Amino acid sequence: MPGTHILVLGGTAEARQLAAELGGLPGTRVTTSLAGRVARPRTPVGEVRIGGFGGPEGLAEWLREHRVDVVVDATHPFAATISANAVAAAAATGTALVALRRPGWHARPGDRWHDAASLADAAAQLPALGRRVFLTTGRLGLAAFADLGQLRFLVRSVEAPGPPLPRHTSVILERGPFTVDGERELLRTHRIDVLVTKDSGGPATAAKLTAARELSVPVVVVRRPPAPDGVPTAEDVPGVLALLSRAAADRCP
Ligand code: NAP
Repeated sequence: MPGTHILVLGGTAEARQLAAELGGLPGTRVTTSLAGRVARPRTPVGEVRIGGFGGPEGLAEWLREHRVDVVVDATHPFAATISANAVAAAAATGTALVALRRPGWHARPGDRWHDAASLADAAAQLPALGRRVFLTTGRLGLAAFADLGQLRFLVRSVEAPGPPLPRHTSVILERGPFTVDGERELLRTHRIDVLVTKDSGGPATAAKLTAARELSVPVVVVRRPPAPDGVPTAEDVPGVLALLSRAAADRCP
């Protein structure tokens, strides 16, 4: 893909892997965009820009100004706003758009999963499921659990969550990947009797599900927001590279 400028909308491990792969292709310029939520992000290979674009119009402007040929939406499956903005901006500028979306998790025999449509739905289910909650949904959106003063929460996030938080909250600041041994130990030490997770998918944070299965701990799984329609999507880096080759062939038949 000589002379091609690819914008990777990042914030995931896959986006970093993709930038590394694309950075090795001759004549390809890669820019990764990060939202700027994390103070010390793991830095991808290639050029990096940090911060919001200013909605779909701002993103469209950026695509024009920086002569982007292809956008790869490699954001987290729960980052629905930027994914929708990418669709609008790509359409407005005639820029090719493909997506990298890792597959979701599926329950296995022995799992005690409870589906939730949102964090608020997860919070509503908790009092019937346990008293000591391991909350792994990230530091944003914890206000949904703030009224559950009768439960004890162990929150794990990369950076410290801000208020409002439930009255009884302890925080562990840690970034994955995590191991099954470590997760089992954590569930036991804190006498966790219910786990809450987003359906993020991927191997880096799946160990908690195995540990919960082994210890017969119920898991509330917050389901993904719908992905935008009509965007060619792959579930891993090789799949995206194949989509990009196809997009390049379409541009220069
Ligand atoms: P979001 O709700 O979809 O996006 C909110 C706003 O943040 C967007 O409108 C955009 O601002 C800005 N933004 C998001 N991703 C961006 C990116 N890659 N580059 C530049 N601006 C971006 O996103 P979110 O759920 O807050 O997630 C933010 C970032 O964290 C994403 O990059 C995502 O991959 C990563 N992440 C999210 C989660 C999660 O659970 N949501 C988990 C792990 C990692 P403007 O409208 O101003 O452009």
